[in-house]
Amino acid sequence: MDCLFCKIANKKTPAEIVYENDKVVVFKDIHPKASIHLLIVPKKHITSVDHLELQDKELVGELILAAQKIAKEKKLNGYKLIINVGRPAGQVIDHLHLHLLAG
Ligand code: AMP
Ligand code: ZN
Repeated sequence: MDCLFCKIANKKTPAEIVYENDKVVVFKDIHPKASIHLLIVPKKHITSVDHLELQDKELVGELILAAQKIAKEKKLNGYKLIINVGRPAGQVIDHLHLHLLAG
């Protein structure tokens, strides 16, 4: 599949990966909008929140728990988690991702 975030998850395209487990990969946003701007991405291709199915509910939890883990490790003093859903909301990459912004 010709999807940038699938390629990053499969190591076909380089990215600055800061955390990874069997379900999730986290890397630095290439155009950071804050001093810390990470993208938390499921390894499974899901186009957007609109494309989630009931079977994905555990995976959604994994994404948020990955954010919490990174925030704890980095001792972040507050952070934002943002998900853009659809072009009108600013989603440009059609692979589900959480933005983690801090600083
Ligand atoms: P969104 O607008 O929610 O779809 O966010 C997509 C994000 O992906 C943007 O903040 C981009 O800066 C970021 N991005 C695009 N290409 C790359 C890349 N190759 N590596 C890391 N981040 C990227
Ligand atoms: Zn994908």
